[in-house]
Amino acid sequence: MAKHGKKKTGRKVRVDFRANRNQPGQTIDADRNESVRSKGAASRKRTIIVGDDDAPLVDEALWTSGVVLAVHGLVCRVHAGDVVWDCTIRRKLRTVSIDERSPVIVGDRVWFSKLADAPPGQSAGVIERVDERRSRLSRRDFRGREHVMVANADQLLIVTAVAEPKPKPHLIDRYLIAAHKGELRPIICFSKCDLVAGEVDYDDDDYDGPLLTIAELVEEYRGIGYTCIFASARSGLGLGALRDEMRGHITALSGQSGVGKSSLINALEPGASLRVAEVSDANQKGRHCTTNAQLLPLHFGGFVVDTPGIRQFDLWRLELGELELHFTEFAPLVVQCRFSDCLHVNQEGCAILAAVADGRISPRRHRSYVKMLTELNERATEWGK
Ligand code: GDP
Ligand code: ZN
Repeated sequence: MAKHGKKKTGRKVRVDFRANRNQPGQTIDADRNESVRSKGAASRKRTIIVGDDDAPLVDEALWTSGVVLAVHGLVCRVHAGDVVWDCTIRRKLRTVSIDERSPVIVGDRVWFSKLADAPPGQSAGVIERVDERRSRLSRRDFRGREHVMVANADQLLIVTAVAEPKPKPHLIDRYLIAAHKGELRPIICFSKCDLVAGEVDYDDDDYDGPLLTIAELVEEYRGIGYTCIFASARSGLGLGALRDEMRGHITALSGQSGVGKSSLINALEPGASLRVAEVSDANQKGRHCTTNAQLLPLHFGGFVVDTPGIRQFDLWRLELGELELHFTEFAPLVVQCRFSDCLHVNQEGCAILAAVADGRISPRRHRSYVKMLTELNERATEWGK
């Protein structure tokens, strides 16, 4: 279990096989058990994981671990091995979390016990424990309340078409900021590459400087450390590279509608649309709930988050002074500005403006920053901050 997370959520101990059968809440005297680890004894012992939180103990002999693909009310679809299980949630767990609508959310790594008396052909279980979340992807409703939609996502695939629709670099920058803010590793994917050969232009209403070619734009992003992939769902270009980046991760997708996100998923995972649509009887209700997040297992390893709500990111919760830190190429320079509260717009002695002037920072990126800053400032005033 721990190998799946950067952070260890519990420590493994060996216990006598009968010591706590059916008593997952029982405290284990780890020291005592560790000290009697002779060969003969080991065979009668099994591994359990002692949580450092209030979660029940993991018992590998009794429980199976899996990843939650979808949550419909109190029924969760749990992916374990190649089987999808319909699991309910142990009542005890429902009281554990108060900040989310459900104690279990999509992307959670859970431990469940199998129901022996499930109807034929159905795999059913009960979720006994939810592992600590490494990350949360959330959305805010119109009242500003946070709704955690996906747990443990670690990457954001930013999809932008090279044509139809034209790329919007400012939008890419916004997604990059959202990724940084959410601590997701961004990957920029230029899709529909079959449509153009050579030069393409793009939309940038607010930028009055010379337009870059896509190649120059990519060079700019790569230059500041971002992974960029040229792809086409139609020709198959870049699919191998995308698989390599996505393997073993939970990747969320973002990008304007029409840029080819669904087509890419279908190209990466043939039959994906069928699997997304597949809903068991118990879950019929969830079918119409389009804001529900879903996790799609990828045959080459890893998952994709398909969440309409997560495709649009909101910036307004960002603090004004925080924005500069999410522009990776600005961050190391901001300490050199004359004033510590420098906003890098027209301030005297600004190290960012100096870097723009001598070409170390792209004027386009700086422009993008100013646009976001202006927007945040307007919102802050609007919201009476
Ligand atoms: P989404 O809204 O981002 O999920 O985009 P879709 O996958 O639904 O694709 C939008 C449109 O772009 C559809 O008409 C697709 O046929 C088309 N499209 C998607 N990928 C490609 C591609 O690689 N090349 C071309 N030429 N068209 C594509
Ligand atoms: Zn400055």
